[in-house]
Amino acid sequence: MSIEETLQTRSGSKCELCGAKDDLSVMEVTPSDGSAEQAILVCITCKSQIEDSAKMDSNHWRCLNDSMWSIVPAVQVMSYRLLHSLRSEGWPQDLLDMMYLDDEAKTWADAGLVAESDHDNEPTKDSNGTTLQEGDNVTLIKDLVVKGANFTAKRGTVVRGIHLTDNPLHIEGKVNGTQIVLISAFLKKA
Ligand SMILES: [Zn+2]
Repeated sequence: MSIEETLQTRSGSKCELCGAKDDLSVMEVTPSDGSAEQAILVCITCKSQIEDSAKMDSNHWRCLNDSMWSIVPAVQVMSYRLLHSLRSEGWPQDLLDMMYLDDEAKTWADAGLVAESDHDNEPTKDSNGTTLQEGDNVTLIKDLVVKGANFTAKRGTVVRGIHLTDNPLHIEGKVNGTQIVLISAFLKKA
């Protein structure tokens, strides 16, 4: 099953945030390993507001009152981040105070908050916390499905001459001749 099919089944073909049924698409909840567990199905309204915070309509996000109780960690994490970005409205902070995330989900949720905020000065670090530099060689510490390129980058693959990105959670590198974005936390400096 494709990721989209998996998510269609999981969600009952509904936006996992607001319940809308039209124009659904897959959105990764970063930092993500590309799996269905780390993605959510969202409608065009939710997607456009998540991607462009200038379009945020806090009334639309009253739906988080329900989605924050989802049993799906990726939905919890996205709900948490949205509530966090809207918290100056008051009611989202009240919901955040009630919300429960387990340790793993909380770490994931906060990783995205760091990515959203001022991260220009944050160093890019590998899975051991070693700072990565432009041009370093790194090794993958887990198998990664490369979407769009239709192959799996195997654990142990060496990626040479990486490029740092604006986001310390992501680097770019060539695997099987294809330039892809890799998650720093899944790498080890070679
Ligand atoms: Zn929606």
